[in-house]
Amino acid sequence: MALSVLWMESPLTRNSGRSFMSEKPVYVTTPIYYVNDAPHLGSAYTTIAADVLARFGRLQNRETFFLTGTDEHGEKLANRAKELGEETQAMVDRFAKVFHDSWKEIGISFDDFIRTTEERHREIVLHLMNKAIAHGDVYLGDYVDWYCVSDETFWTEGQLQGGKCPSCGREVKKLVEKNYFFKISKYTEKLLKHIEANPDFILPASKRNEVVAMLKEGVRDISASRTSFTWGIPFPQGPEAGQDRHVIYVWFDALVNYVSALDPLGKPERFKRLWPQATHLIGKDILKFHAIFWPCFLMSVDLPLPKRIFAHGWWTVEGQKMSKSLGNTVDPVQMSRTYGKDALRLFMFREFPMGSDGDFSMANFKARVNADLANNLGNLVSRTLNLISKNLDGRWKAPTHSAPGTEDVWESARQASSSITGPANAEETSMERFEYFNILQSTFSFVTSLNKYFDTKAPWTLAKDPSKKQELTEVLSSVAEGIRVAACMLWPFLPDTCDEISRRLGVKTPLSLRELGYGNLLRPGGAGAEERVITMGQPLFPRIQ
Ligand SMILES: [Zn+2]
Repeated sequence: MALSVLWMESPLTRNSGRSFMSEKPVYVTTPIYYVNDAPHLGSAYTTIAADVLARFGRLQNRETFFLTGTDEHGEKLANRAKELGEETQAMVDRFAKVFHDSWKEIGISFDDFIRTTEERHREIVLHLMNKAIAHGDVYLGDYVDWYCVSDETFWTEGQLQGGKCPSCGREVKKLVEKNYFFKISKYTEKLLKHIEANPDFILPASKRNEVVAMLKEGVRDISASRTSFTWGIPFPQGPEAGQDRHVIYVWFDALVNYVSALDPLGKPERFKRLWPQATHLIGKDILKFHAIFWPCFLMSVDLPLPKRIFAHGWWTVEGQKMSKSLGNTVDPVQMSRTYGKDALRLFMFREFPMGSDGDFSMANFKARVNADLANNLGNLVSRTLNLISKNLDGRWKAPTHSAPGTEDVWESARQASSSITGPANAEETSMERFEYFNILQSTFSFVTSLNKYFDTKAPWTLAKDPSKKQELTEVLSSVAEGIRVAACMLWPFLPDTCDEISRRLGVKTPLSLRELGYGNLLRPGGAGAEERVITMGQPLFPRIQ
């Protein structure tokens, strides 16, 4: 191969020569979590998936905003505080801290943590509700239905299962009360048109189809206020003579966090940039609220719709439904303490695509971590650095051309890189479509191909023959540069590991190289060819027994 033949062409640069087509901001949200719980496998899954996308946005040097937070209003919490003999606000402060601190501990890089009891949130909720009222979209009516306190959801007679809540199986109570209603029916036709014109608005496609079916069947107007409890934001209208005080119904409170956190009144320019890029990552159980109620409310208050709603599947644990009573919940904080932050991050997205349901089993977790991290990636790093240390005085440089025999390696790198960015003319990257499963599959194939090349070239044998020094240098440098590239590809998923790999290779961390442009980070030779000095260390991932 001619010296001038360069390293693989970057799929990121092949069209425009610029770093990448998308310089749009990344705004990713998780649902705000109800504070009567602690983080579990399900909420960690959503939150880590959002974290991966946020890190990807930052690595691409795009303006990135990652929001999570807590939902702190509603009857259930008021009741709980009464049971505990505690002030409700003091209790939710305590619970919210558990979420905040747990996410911090497992390395979640959120930019903001919003709480629905904050004044900045209340102000926007009232602002938007007043707008909906001014638009004539709110009316007073009678609500008669079955209510599940635990889920804060109304069910029709026909939806009950054996007289109980179809979602959680708990007792429901019949409620008749004066409510303000939001005229959702006024906007469903418009929403249907939006979904048809924007097929990627709701992903995966199976969930989009569910929403379309619900809309076609007809959606009832929903309560915008409640009077059965007071722990919430007072409704801006009422009470009428002889009526109880109204509190804003929890969904019109909670969903608004996605807007209120951006401070639309205080920072209108930033709001205009970020809001239309909003990607709501949710569990499939709250699809209807996010994909029907929320867009209809946004239309009512004249705000653009978010870019995307992505509903992921559910986890079982060892083949069983996760539940506190079964005692089979997986604590993400404990997992992180025992196996490091990255092991669970890898497992979550490596086993099945994000729209599907999946199972967590300890045996599969260990097998996955051992195969990918200990054997494949960890072993490659360790043996490469060992030979560089012993034979090249601990120094290497990225080769300036692709060495003989590396064709398959760089083809595999190119494929991994394409899997991240997606088809050449796509409007957005595969990362933004949460195709994490495919991306990790391709990236670990690339790591495998580096190991294969290493085995084929047998640099430990080359090291015994002084006349082969040139070839030895070429092989080890090629592999080291391949590892650098893999670390940049994997960084959003495995940030600690990839930072540590970079440190040992003697290169800057992926994030601190982002000024070079994302295309260069993923291109062999793209981060420069200066001399690097390696640092040796303990195995990155000891095998889990
Ligand atoms: Zn329920």
